[in-house]
Amino acid sequence: MKRTIVEVILALALIGAGAFGWIHWKGNQKATSQLTELKAASEEATKAVGEKEAAIKAAEEEMSALREEMAPLENQAQQLMAVKAAMANGATLADLEAAYKSQKNLSAERQVGLGALRMLTKGAEDPVAVEAFRKALKLSELGDRKNTICAAQIGLAAAGEKIAILPECLPKSAKAGKGEKSPSDEKGAEKDGHAKDDGKDDGHGKGAHEKKAVHWSYEGEMGPERWGKEFPTCAKGKAQSPLDIRGPFVKTRTVVTTDYKEGPLKMLNNGHTIQVNVPAGSKLRIDGIPYDLLQFHFHRPSEEKIDGKPMAMVVHFVHKNAEGKLAVVGVLLKEGNENPGIKTLWANMPMEEGPEVTPEGVNFNPANLLPREFDFYSYEGSLTTPPCTEGVRFFILKTTVNVAKEQVAAFPFKRNARPVQELNGREISTN
Ligand SMILES: [Zn+2]
Repeated sequence: MKRTIVEVILALALIGAGAFGWIHWKGNQKATSQLTELKAASEEATKAVGEKEAAIKAAEEEMSALREEMAPLENQAQQLMAVKAAMANGATLADLEAAYKSQKNLSAERQVGLGALRMLTKGAEDPVAVEAFRKALKLSELGDRKNTICAAQIGLAAAGEKIAILPECLPKSAKAGKGEKSPSDEKGAEKDGHAKDDGKDDGHGKGAHEKKAVHWSYEGEMGPERWGKEFPTCAKGKAQSPLDIRGPFVKTRTVVTTDYKEGPLKMLNNGHTIQVNVPAGSKLRIDGIPYDLLQFHFHRPSEEKIDGKPMAMVVHFVHKNAEGKLAVVGVLLKEGNENPGIKTLWANMPMEEGPEVTPEGVNFNPANLLPREFDFYSYEGSLTTPPCTEGVRFFILKTTVNVAKEQVAAFPFKRNARPVQELNGREISTN
């Protein structure tokens, strides 16, 4: 009994501390002071355990009383209850550890979540648990408290706990608001040729019961025809992608070469596509000017059409130069023989939306997805996903690469292609 109480108190203290961070982040001063007191009370109570069970009880009562007062913190209260329930039977940590043991590619976020759970279970005094948590934090560059909470929440959710995940913790609502960007958000935004959001106010998916914040999709209410409502450039832009590529073409002398390097495979399912994040070192050169390859991702069917015809799929390689200019190389995938590069990728791809995974010991060279010939069609276009930012140079290779019918069918998105856009007098060049 005593042990259970101590565990509950520790859980309360940690979640309290987490909530403190979150509230502080939200600028809610009143609740902040309440939670500071709550945290102090619970810590004091923990110290006194063994002799002063009454004090603990009082602290617990105080906490539940405070909880009632904090209606806006419903999320936190729910999490608190989830943690409490999880701790009471002691099974969560063991389950999670077992579940993760069978999983080779344990993301840094999950390690942090696991670390947090270990601390909750074993106590923040356990030096091994604390050290493991610190290490995981460092690994994931999740320095601040908000991210710690997110990691713990993702960990709990992964363990099957019914837990309300903060909207801020969901991949697609990672907001770039008021200079509050965390290092990992920044990295994500930079890496993302398929930018998630335009940083505007979050009007959707804020409900505590909603796990997924839907901003846009490829069909229905938030389909491509409606993107312009929230992302004006998608509707008003005059140089949008993708295009139906057809003549007449303008001859260009632009020389484009790739220098892609093998590196550890890092990939994610962002809810819109399968994306491979590429480690630094792989480059594209346009007339000698280097562009770093940031990531590549897939669309089914191909977004670009050639003379009105789409291909089974397309790979978009997204590059950025020192000035921030984006260049996309598109490789059209045509139904045919099995593609060995895609075989490797598909064997490791996450079927559900979630954070980046890094399968252990798997290397990949993006060059494996390129054809030998580098003849292209080129035009000035935009991101093909919201916010549809323009100023992106496209190079669509003329030579297609094979993909097996089964490989196309195994791609978890049935349709994730924006319809072709108006040319609006743009030139399409060819080398
Ligand atoms: Zn794309």
